[in-house]
Amino acid sequence: MHDGAASRELIAENEALRARMADLIRQAERNHEIMCRHQAFDLEIVGASSFPQLVGTIFRTLPDISELDVVTLTLIDPDADIYTVMLKLGVDFEEFPNLMFSEAGDELGFDFSTGEPPRPQLGPFDRQRHAPMFPAACGEPRSVALVPLLRNKRLIGCLNLGSLDATRFAPEMGTDFIEHMASIIAICLENVISNEMLKYIGLTDALTGVYNRRYVDRRLLEEISRARRNESRLSVMYIDIDHFKQINDSVGHQGGDDVLREVASRIKAELRISDALARFGGEEFVVLLVDADGPSAAVVAGRIRAGVADTPVELAGGQAVPVTVSIGVATLGPDERSLPLETVAQQLLAQADAALYRAKQAGRNRVIACP
Ligand code: GH3
Ligand code: MG
Ligand code: MG
Repeated sequence: MHDGAASRELIAENEALRARMADLIRQAERNHEIMCRHQAFDLEIVGASSFPQLVGTIFRTLPDISELDVVTLTLIDPDADIYTVMLKLGVDFEEFPNLMFSEAGDELGFDFSTGEPPRPQLGPFDRQRHAPMFPAACGEPRSVALVPLLRNKRLIGCLNLGSLDATRFAPEMGTDFIEHMASIIAICLENVISNEMLKYIGLTDALTGVYNRRYVDRRLLEEISRARRNESRLSVMYIDIDHFKQINDSVGHQGGDDVLREVASRIKAELRISDALARFGGEEFVVLLVDADGPSAAVVAGRIRAGVADTPVELAGGQAVPVTVSIGVATLGPDERSLPLETVAQQLLAQADAALYRAKQAGRNRVIACP
């Protein structure tokens, strides 16, 4: 071969190699960048301390770092426990339109026939199969990956990834990366959900489902401090069922428990979302009325009294039990602002308790407000 031709060929080959190398470097840089973004995402979700913080991060960050057009999440929640507890803890589900709950894992369309844990399903969007995972409001993707979220081989939900690019997800593609990501998301979800459940159990009364004393003791301090800041009013109600011992004696402890549940629900029916109802123990309830002065608290207390007394409680066996309550009301005075919060809280509860005592003395089934 002519020398000149050989060297031209070498140069061309060299250039091609350099171009290929530059390509590989660009690809490596891009992969590195994706890895870094995912590492930051992993750290963020591992650090999420509440359910809304975790799902919020997933919906906000994942589409961005993975260049996806839509991400939705389905959680398996057979008895709606997760949904109910989150609702009670104040989670606003309207904030998360891409979060769905499913009663059973087999509704998610995975193949369980092999006895093995389900694998991710990648492929073109199929309206009939995939529409439930991608509600109309989030826009229709063209290719999707349905990624099972597994904990100890148990399916806890599904992460649904959608792209407008029809070639983004195809059945033959590798799934190691998304399976790894899904396993981290599944651990974080399980962790945060059990923490929220524990939080809920620690703050609520198992019999009636309303808050417990611990919650109200804490909340009362917050509300007193808020009332001071905003110069708003705060009232407290102490409610005690009249002659509950006799009710227990006549309908049994179980019947008494049903009466307690019904009274709790009738009290709750008269309250606003911002108010807090707690069972303080036995047959005593305390209500915090946020932003309520003495007269308006007395009106609410009057409604509660009537709501309980006007209709006998019907037990499962069909027995109708007349029930009444006595209520003491106390309102935070403007002159107590210099005292420590704890002292003010104790005083306020003691005043409501004293008013309740007077209501009992005066013949029960009545409301007395602390002057
Ligand atoms: P008063 O009108 O003065 O309030 O009379 P009372 O009988 O309601 O008051 P007392 O405090 O003497 O009795 C409360 C009863 O509540 C006694 C207790 O056996 C019953 N009790 C406490 N906790 C529970 C519970 O969880 N379930 C049931 N069924 N009864 C309970
Ligand atoms: Mg009592
Ligand atoms: Mg009582």
